[in-house]
Amino acid sequence: LRAAYLVGCDGGRSTIRKATGIEFAGWDPTMSWMIAEVEMSEEPAWGFRSNASGIHALGKIEGGRKVGVVLTEPRLEARGEPTLRELSEALTAVYGTDFGVHSPTWLSRFTDMTRQATAYRDRRVLLAGDAAHIHPPMGGQGLNTGVQDAMNLGWKLAQIIKGTSPQSLLDSYHAERHPVAARVLRNTMAQVALRRTDDRSKALADTVAELLGMDEARKKIAAEMSGLGVHYDLGEGHPLLGRRIPDLDLTTAGGLLRVFTLLHDARPVLLNLGEPGRLDIAPWADRVRQIDAGYAGIWDLPALGTVVSPDAVLIRPDGYVAWAGAGTQQGLVDALTTWFGPPATAG
Ligand SMILES: Cc1cc2nc3c(=O)[nH]c(=O)nc-3n(C[C@H](O)[C@H](O)[C@H](O)COP(=O)(O)OP(=O)(O)OC[C@H]3O[C@@H](n4cnc5c(N)ncnc54)[C@H](O)[C@@H]3O)c2cc1C
Repeated sequence: LRAAYLVGCDGGRSTIRKATGIEFAGWDPTMSWMIAEVEMSEEPAWGFRSNASGIHALGKIEGGRKVGVVLTEPRLEARGEPTLRELSEALTAVYGTDFGVHSPTWLSRFTDMTRQATAYRDRRVLLAGDAAHIHPPMGGQGLNTGVQDAMNLGWKLAQIIKGTSPQSLLDSYHAERHPVAARVLRNTMAQVALRRTDDRSKALADTVAELLGMDEARKKIAAEMSGLGVHYDLGEGHPLLGRRIPDLDLTTAGGLLRVFTLLHDARPVLLNLGEPGRLDIAPWADRVRQIDAGYAGIWDLPALGTVVSPDAVLIRPDGYVAWAGAGTQQGLVDALTTWFGPPATAG
């Protein structure tokens, strides 16, 4: 099999990453958890429970017919999948009973191993998802980050393969996505530290909890963990630059339209919110869809708050703003060329 490009989306143990020789730098695990989906013949103690080992949880699956179990292990166990007997013993150690655990659908174990590929690209090989970054699951950020990698990479690769953009466009993949996952690694490592049960860690966790009682701190962390606060460094300009376009309700000649529906084709969109027909992007008309629309509301962004309303926005296929103008078209041609290739020549 020969291919022009290879994208390693083959998980944390990525064969492609290893074969390419890309370093997976980071931290060995310090803690491990058992995780399982089981049945129990007795009513379990639903919810969270804390003891000297850490936090444990029993949750209802399928209305309580099955039980989702997560148990913090008293010491690091990185030995692969646990047995039902080990789970039973671990439940008894925490709850004094195993609640008659039986019939596991699956049993597994995860750790706080935290690593990131030092390069997301080596010539024609690229990495995405867990192949590029692994971290503890706190905050449910892993899949989210991997899907965003794919969204960031897909349209760039398509343009290069179609010949509309030069190979150098691929450099922006590592430049944009590596810092995002580095922050995810950082916040998940912090969450592991905050879950430690010694008195000093508890004091730190209480202090952080107080800070998160403040709107600004809470909004910033929530924006970061949800991925809505991602800001690619695309240089100086309007605050929207490099940020995810909000899903605005637009008025158009054809009726009401949500911005995200314009992105379903995975093609770039130039949103003209000023006088209809005033923007001329004829040399990119084969690649960039232009929409004349109206929007009367405020522009409110996660973590950033309200920003100056732009009168035109160039949106990349991944939903990030490549250019925004407020009373000026300065920089539009450069942004079109950078992201969607050089202008088509007439004739
Ligand atoms: C307990 C736990 C809870 C989590 N909760 C969340 C959550 O709530 N939200 C969230 O966003 N993330 C969560 N995550 C993280 C999430 O599961 C991962 O980030 C995500 O599954 C990674 O997706 P991926 O496609 O990159 O890799 P994987 O899911 O590992 O998929 C890789 C695929 O490649 C295949 N593969 C590997 N090698 C080869 C090969 N040589 N040939 C062919 N196929 C191959 C594998 O079989 C696999 O199907 C959680 C993780 C854990 C452990």
